[in-house]
Amino acid sequence: TCGICVEKCPFDAIEIINLPQELQDDPAHRYGENAFSLYGLPAPQDGQVTGILGPNGIGKTTAVRILAGELEPNLGRHGEPVDWDDVLEAYRGTELQEYIADVRDGEVTVARKPQYVDQIPNSFDGNTRELLERTDERDALDHLVERLSIGPVMDQSIDDLSGGELQRVALAATLARDTDFYFLDEITPYLDIGQRVTAARLIRELAEEEDRSMLVVEHDLAILDLLADTLHVAYGEPGAYGVVTSPKSVRNGINEYLAGYLDNENMRIRPNPIEFEEHAPRTESRGETLVEYPDLTKRYGDGEFSLEVDGGEIRRNEVLGIVGPNGIGKSTFAKLLTGNLESDEGDADLDLDISYKPQYVTIDQHMRVDAFLSSITNQFGSSYWNTEIAQPLQLERIMEQNLSDLSGGERQRVAIAACLSDSADLYLLDEPSAHLDVEQRVQATSAIRRYAEQQDATVMVIDHDIYMIDLLADRLMVFDGEPAVHGRAGTPQSMRGGMNEFLANLEVTFRRDERTSRPRINKPDSQLDKQQKADGEYYYAP
Ligand code: ADP
Ligand code: ADP
Repeated sequence: TCGICVEKCPFDAIEIINLPQELQDDPAHRYGENAFSLYGLPAPQDGQVTGILGPNGIGKTTAVRILAGELEPNLGRHGEPVDWDDVLEAYRGTELQEYIADVRDGEVTVARKPQYVDQIPNSFDGNTRELLERTDERDALDHLVERLSIGPVMDQSIDDLSGGELQRVALAATLARDTDFYFLDEITPYLDIGQRVTAARLIRELAEEEDRSMLVVEHDLAILDLLADTLHVAYGEPGAYGVVTSPKSVRNGINEYLAGYLDNENMRIRPNPIEFEEHAPRTESRGETLVEYPDLTKRYGDGEFSLEVDGGEIRRNEVLGIVGPNGIGKSTFAKLLTGNLESDEGDADLDLDISYKPQYVTIDQHMRVDAFLSSITNQFGSSYWNTEIAQPLQLERIMEQNLSDLSGGERQRVAIAACLSDSADLYLLDEPSAHLDVEQRVQATSAIRRYAEQQDATVMVIDHDIYMIDLLADRLMVFDGEPAVHGRAGTPQSMRGGMNEFLANLEVTFRRDERTSRPRINKPDSQLDKQQKADGEYYYAP
């Protein structure tokens, strides 16, 4: 070992090239002897959006509590009193000096959007209007409600809101506050791409027009790219220690992150780079047909919402991506396929065994993770299952925990594992990326792909993270229409055709990063944006 670790090397997830410089310094905070230590702090800037890119459990909340003045950092010095003057001394000459002086003087106010919006109904009784009116310190509510399309649920009880509605209400509540510093812990879960882009633009506007300082944790890289001015990468060993790097440009931060190597820090954080294919990916699977389904229609109740599905085929052994706005009928289609819902016209009875992971994962019985998973598959614990499922989904560490004690990201990983472990003809995963950090998304993506390839399994994935869909899917099914009124599901098509159709509806084009081929959202009306729209090449532009 390198000599600093006493019992268990905290670096085992990382190949050490050099002892990171940061770890030779004192931490900003250590919770106790041998407890989690945080090295480095993000530096909020007036009028700027500062991003943090890193795994869960790496100290982001700890950093924010320090920046908010809620947690007085101990600089890792146990047994000796440390006050804000000592902290100021330690950060003298850094970008944080002025900010920490303000915190010391009690001059910083903070608004915070929590990560798990699903928990908001547990702590608030009342309707949307009542929640939002309490927070409207900037007289900005009408504007936020309109931009985030919250109008239709203003008088609805918070208890009855969907995840996507809760996320938008929580964003509006945070951005309506009048504070110096806004912290947003993940803005995208349950939002569709159009809503994600709107949320990103609102945050940028608040920074630029009102000179506020925004700190955003985000795992959807396309959105983070659009949103942030500068980026801190956080790395380390979740639960043991975390290092927040000095700020990087957003482009470099994301590229280095994807490459798995941090240039300035001289640190490898992942054995392999994450690579995007520049042109329409993979030759379309020519696999045999698993199933054909006819044109279908479904109406709810008196026809408040109707869905028309163009018939198509699902091929054996493919990963079929499904994209489209919220409220357009994707889950309805899934339920038609699984036989949980009857169609009005056309027969969707596929006579298939379907293993289904719903969007909102509600498994919370009082049962241990290992007991739960072994009740699903007799493969549980086999070396194949361990390598292909447990390891990439990072389940080992939570096997002995109770389902009811899991965090949102942990619950999601267990639900993905449960879905894939069942023996079925078709695996249907609704928003597997929700609450996963980037590393976990990448690993879940490769677990799902490998599973499809090795088990001859056929997988359908509904997701709004465009990078995840790009890495995962062989073909694409596009939904469009008017949310909550009418939806149309197109027949499955090639990735190129599907992305073009989908992004044309949204009027968003992507260019390629020169260094990594990573797709990046173009500025509306930029030269490239106009050219690509004219050419009809929204995503895989040559
Ligand atoms: P993140 O926001 O990146 O998910 P956190 O800052 O919440 O990470 O937590 C980082 C680590 O610090 C976790 O392992 C967590 O268990 C630990 N931790 C958080 N708060 C405390 C505390 N008050 N005492 C001891 N450990 C804590
Ligand atoms: P998506 O999965 O694309 O977000 P859904 O299929 O869940 O969309 O919903 C499409 C529309 O149908 C939404 O407006 C939703 O409120 C409505 N809806 C869903 N389930 C029902 C139901 N059981 N009864 C009436 N309306 C429903």
